[in-house]
Amino acid sequence: GLTQEAAGQAAARAYELDRRHVFHSWSAQKALTPMVITAAQGCYVWDGAGHRLLDFSSQLVNTNIGHQHPKVIAAIQEQAAKLCTVAPQHANDARSEAARLIAERTPGELNRVFFTNGGAEAVEHAVRMARLHTGRYKVLSRYRSYHGGTETAVNLTGDPRRWPSDHGNAGTVHFFGPFLYRSQFHASTEAEECERALAHLEQTILFEGPQTIAAIVLESIPGTAGIMVPPPGYLAGVRELCDRHGIVFIADEVMAGFGRTGKWFAIEHAPGVVPDLITFAKGVNSGYVPLGGVAISPDIAATFDDRPYPGGLTYSGHPLATAAAVATITAMAEERIVENAAEIGARVLGPGLHELARRHPSIGEVRGTGVFWALELVRDRATREPLAPYGGTSPAMTEVVAAAKEAGLLLFVNFNRLHVVPPCVIGESEAKEGLAILDQVLSLADKHTV
Ligand code: PLP
Repeated sequence: GLTQEAAGQAAARAYELDRRHVFHSWSAQKALTPMVITAAQGCYVWDGAGHRLLDFSSQLVNTNIGHQHPKVIAAIQEQAAKLCTVAPQHANDARSEAARLIAERTPGELNRVFFTNGGAEAVEHAVRMARLHTGRYKVLSRYRSYHGGTETAVNLTGDPRRWPSDHGNAGTVHFFGPFLYRSQFHASTEAEECERALAHLEQTILFEGPQTIAAIVLESIPGTAGIMVPPPGYLAGVRELCDRHGIVFIADEVMAGFGRTGKWFAIEHAPGVVPDLITFAKGVNSGYVPLGGVAISPDIAATFDDRPYPGGLTYSGHPLATAAAVATITAMAEERIVENAAEIGARVLGPGLHELARRHPSIGEVRGTGVFWALELVRDRATREPLAPYGGTSPAMTEVVAAAKEAGLLLFVNFNRLHVVPPCVIGESEAKEGLAILDQVLSLADKHTV
């Protein structure tokens, strides 16, 4: 009808203005063909032509509570009507309550929160705190990681997006983490991989000079780099190495935090392991308003009891963002959304993806937990040759992703991997709808296997 025609015209105008005036992240600008999204609800989004897509990407793995949750919308609207903004030095009820709710959920005594606008800033500030706390400069992180797009965060990142900004002077050093499927340590069991990865990290520390290292930054479960759930004992081993050498342990929970893995924080999968700093963003308010932050241990907080912390942001603890966080965390608790993520992962997504792997030779490995899953696609199961090279793409990957979209499924893609990362609110029938589309399009990937 008329309204559909008007909507189509509005989408066409959005697209045209985008191509003329908007500069996009991480991309060569000329060949971009961004999809216009005009509406979203729960686990679905609608494109400019009015097609509905099941969002197995949660956008950038951030809409943990699903799209347009009414309680979060209402909280933002109420806060906007009441008080849109305050300077960071003032106190505000939304910010105070958000900090309390986050502190209540972090492991150990990480009860102080510094708010930022997103994940990269959280990592920047966590590293600054660690450097000032220890009086040391160097920071270690793993290959196959993503920590953000700003200067220190991108230099910590262990993927090719670092290279153009890496001039060798950021004070960052990389090591290999545990990843049995593509083991750097010639390991054949998780226990071996764990032991050898810890020995390698210990050697890296000793050869870099323990007294030069301020922090080790690790995603509790690496996200964009491939959802490699660490073997039992690995994070405890990292904690022990940090304790032994006076190194700050920063757990980056920007992607894995707030329900994604079926726990509030992914570090809870390693019982008893308490990092010194936790960085978070994304799921804290599902990205309805930009928000990130650092949860701080008493020890590190005390460093800045009498000495000023040399860092700040105009929007630190912004009322709209923190009101959205209060509503998000409260709704996630009331509606048992973290439990749902765990349950759907254990009962539907995990078994469903493993079942697909039995029938599709292009699936080399299925990894994950909760609503945080990766399919490692390969040309050859025996050699594990990836369906796209490290750091690149391939016609096969492009074909599979385009076919999924055509069939109504939005996926998160990185190199040779498809990530199944729907909102934590996903129901059984939606999960099965997505699995059925995956089943269909993986047949295209199978044709590229040897
Ligand atoms: N850390 C991790 C683990 C992430 O996954 C991301 C984003 O994907 C970031 C940091 C950076 O967050 P932001 O894009 O909000 O700056």
